[in-house]
Amino acid sequence: MGFRELREFMVSTQLVPRGIKDERVLNAMRKVPRHLFVDESIQNKAYDDMALPISEGQTISQPYMVAIMTELLELKGNEKVLEIGTGSGYQAAILAELSKEVYTIERVDVLAQNAEERFLSLGYTNIHVKVGDGTLGWPEEAPFDRIMITAATPKIPDVLMEQLSEEGIIIAPVGDRFSQQLLKCTKSSGKYSDEYHTPCIFVPLIGKYGWQQEDI
Ligand code: SAM
Repeated sequence: MGFRELREFMVSTQLVPRGIKDERVLNAMRKVPRHLFVDESIQNKAYDDMALPISEGQTISQPYMVAIMTELLELKGNEKVLEIGTGSGYQAAILAELSKEVYTIERVDVLAQNAEERFLSLGYTNIHVKVGDGTLGWPEEAPFDRIMITAATPKIPDVLMEQLSEEGIIIAPVGDRFSQQLLKCTKSSGKYSDEYHTPCIFVPLIGKYGWQQEDI
């Protein structure tokens, strides 16, 4: 099977049967070439039902996790989105297919550089990358209509809540170091409501309002 067929197979065997329904999300997962976001040596595993290693001890999330987190953001196409944890850049590319502008922050310099090169070569002009501590958000660009944290956090940092626009949605894997649950928090008329979704395991969010490097 070629990569296009593998993507179609991934959608029909991993995403649709687990309840992903948003056609826009499914189409983005059919379109973005996930194999170009991993090392050549593991490109043959790019569409398997698992997270994969990228460099610097980090991971690209399992396709289902990318799809459900994206679906929970309820993107319509006009949003300004903040992602914390650029990693390979795959999730940012999916978000860029479905929203207006994506701002993504990565703490590891080389990962941010590699991701930026991928965005350029794939023609994404609506993704903006910054190296730094994403737990502080991106105050110069706030507010954001949607925020996605793609690393495990003990709680959603208050600073990020403050950078969420009215009627905004934030999604994050929240819990302890080795097990979390997806938390979707919706802001409406100044009030927040929480909804818990699937259990998950992410690498840690390391920063001022996440875990401290020495705790890892
Ligand atoms: N979204 C990524 C993708 O599509 O490949 C996967 C993200 S990976 C599971 C988590 C990423 O969060 C790692 O690249 C890690 O370096 C980054 N990270 C951890 N703490 C961070 C922080 N405080 N600010 C920004 N990035 C952080």
